[in-house]
Amino acid sequence: MSDAKPAQFVLPPLPYAKDALEPHISANTFDYHYGKHHKAYVDKANELVVGTGLEGKSLEEVIIEAKKKGLGPLFNNAAQIYNHNVFWESMKPNGGGAPTGALLDKINEAFGSVDKFKEQFVAAGVGQFGSGWVWLVESGGKLEIVKSANAETPLTDGKKILMVCDVWEHAYYLDYQNRRADFVKVFVEKLANWDYASANLAKPAAPKP
Ligand code: MN
Repeated sequence: MSDAKPAQFVLPPLPYAKDALEPHISANTFDYHYGKHHKAYVDKANELVVGTGLEGKSLEEVIIEAKKKGLGPLFNNAAQIYNHNVFWESMKPNGGGAPTGALLDKINEAFGSVDKFKEQFVAAGVGQFGSGWVWLVESGGKLEIVKSANAETPLTDGKKILMVCDVWEHAYYLDYQNRRADFVKVFVEKLANWDYASANLAKPAAPKP
C-alpha cells in the first residue's frame, strides 16, 4: 500500500502527436524537448517545492510567490513548466496564417499588419541574446511583443499571455542547428495557433502578481 500523494506538478499531455508538426518540428525534437527537458523541470519543481510553504498551491501561484520570496531554483523550474505548457499550446498542425476577429483588429492596431507583427516577432526572437522566450501579450488593453531571458515569464508582470515561442537552443537545434531566425519564422508562418491566442485574449485579465 502506498500513501504517496499525487505530485503537485504534472507533465501535461501534448495537445497533438509528437510527429504532428513535422516537417517543421521533428518527433525527435519532441522526444528531447518534451520528454526530457520539460519532464525534468516537472520532476525538479516537485522536489524543490517541499518545505517552502508553497505545497498545494497552483503552478501560477508558486511561480509568483517563488519570485517574491527569492526562491530562484524553484522559480526557474516552475516557470519553465508553465512556459512550456503555453508553448505547446501555441502551435498546431497547419497553423500560422493570420488571426481573425478581435485578435486581428488588435494586431493591426498594435503592429500595423499581420506581416509587420511577424517581422517584429522574428526580430525579437533573434534579438534575445542567449536562452529565452518571445511572447505575444496584452497589457493595458494593447498587444505587445515581449522577450524574456531564461525562465522569466510575463506572468509575474501581470500581463495577459496570448502565445509564446521558445528560443532556447534546445527548441530548435536538432532541426535547425544554429538557424534561430528560420525556426521563429516557421513558428509564425506555419505553426502559430491563433485559435489559442484568441481564446486567451477573450479570458479575464491575468491575476495580479
Ligand atoms: Mn524549451
